[in-house]
Amino acid sequence: MFDTLSSRLDKVFTSLRGRGRLTDADIDATAREIRVALLEADVALPVVRSFVAAIRERARGAEVSTSLNPAQQVIKIVNEELVAVLGGGTTTLRFAKTPPTVILLAGLQGTGKTTLAGKLGRWLKTQGHTPLLVAADLQRPNAVNQLQVVGARAGVEVFAPEPGNGVGDPVRVARDALAHARRQVFDVVLVDTAGRLGVDEEMMRQAADIRDAVSPDEILFVLDAMIGQDAVSTAQAFADGVGFSGVVLTKLDGDARGGAALSVARVTGAPIMFASTGEALEDFDVFHPERMASRILGMGDVLTLIEQAEKAFEVEQAEAMAAKMAASEFTLEDFLEQMLTVRKMGPIGNLLGMLPGMGQIKDQLAQVDDRDLDRVVAIIRSMTPAERQDPKILQASRKARVARGSGVTVTEVNQLLDRFGEARKMMRQMAGGAGLIPGMGRGK
Ligand code: GDP
Repeated sequence: MFDTLSSRLDKVFTSLRGRGRLTDADIDATAREIRVALLEADVALPVVRSFVAAIRERARGAEVSTSLNPAQQVIKIVNEELVAVLGGGTTTLRFAKTPPTVILLAGLQGTGKTTLAGKLGRWLKTQGHTPLLVAADLQRPNAVNQLQVVGARAGVEVFAPEPGNGVGDPVRVARDALAHARRQVFDVVLVDTAGRLGVDEEMMRQAADIRDAVSPDEILFVLDAMIGQDAVSTAQAFADGVGFSGVVLTKLDGDARGGAALSVARVTGAPIMFASTGEALEDFDVFHPERMASRILGMGDVLTLIEQAEKAFEVEQAEAMAAKMAASEFTLEDFLEQMLTVRKMGPIGNLLGMLPGMGQIKDQLAQVDDRDLDRVVAIIRSMTPAERQDPKILQASRKARVARGSGVTVTEVNQLLDRFGEARKMMRQMAGGAGLIPGMGRGK
């Protein structure tokens, strides 16, 4: 699932790496590539259009952020738009004030409704509920029996029509089940309805009749993520025929291209509530748009890091630093401040390539370990303010004092000063490279 989309998007981001800023032409090219990626993933055209328009607009208007490079900015925007298209936040079931809560499952045959009834029943039990599964799919010869098997495996009671009593009338079965639930204090009633291979009127009418008989609190439309382009028309047919308040995506473990998942919430306006990822009862979870978006982008942790970088590098601070660099006023004091900011963000290894301007010195950084940073911080802290301002005054005796104070050798103090001098030279050459950490990682 989503493999093609993920690798396509990754290519888009890779092509942006190393750019200083995005031109309008870059943004147009990026938007075009994202459009192709989404269409290839079977995302519905109206959804693709609005998605790409949003990316384009936001990329153009993107603040000149000093903490994110263009590739990171685009990743961030695409991530946020993916989350939005997947429904924004996590949506949970609404339970009735007076139990039982009634949940109706609707969808085409073979989408995994019956399996889902078992999964949902089991999940509800883990949440402290006492669910009852109702076999109101009387169309398919084996459906009632299948629900009984699933219910037994899930450890959830199943209400099925007694032979000769209500057989063939799913509305009556549903109504009887509700009465049974009230008597027996089941607090959630899950009604499995009949599906057909294609959308047909009789099936819709039957589902609507059951709906009218039991007034469900939630109607969940169960959608097989493998059906690709047909997802949207099927969802619309169910929205018109029965209506639904939430969507459950099944077979997300398959190798479908993911378009259904990315289209259905926006097209129908109903949130995706649960996701099913296999045949076993455990292959099921609440749907989290953020996690799904991160998975599509294949960079869950990276996104967190971008946020951390954003937080740690206050824009103003970075701008002030950039101005100093441009004016060659960058002192050891400033160096120390940057060091401490970087340190706040966690292990340096995680930050590789994350920091603006670091692309060029990434290889050097790869050799840095956190103790290097700490040592540098200690050395600078052992200097007096005057020394930090103007390292030239550091003669032999002062250097010896600093080395003693920070627990390093004089050679190490000299190395730091050399590196700082070089870094300053480099900065003068590429003035304006905000956020650069000068000269780290050139040996110890
Ligand atoms: P129903 O006709 O809608 O009730 O569908 P079923 O529950 O009978 O499921 C149809 C088939 O899909 C069965 O073989 C299930 O084991 C399988 N199935 C259901 N959910 C999933 C899922 O999330 N992943 C996979 N791979 N198979 C599933």
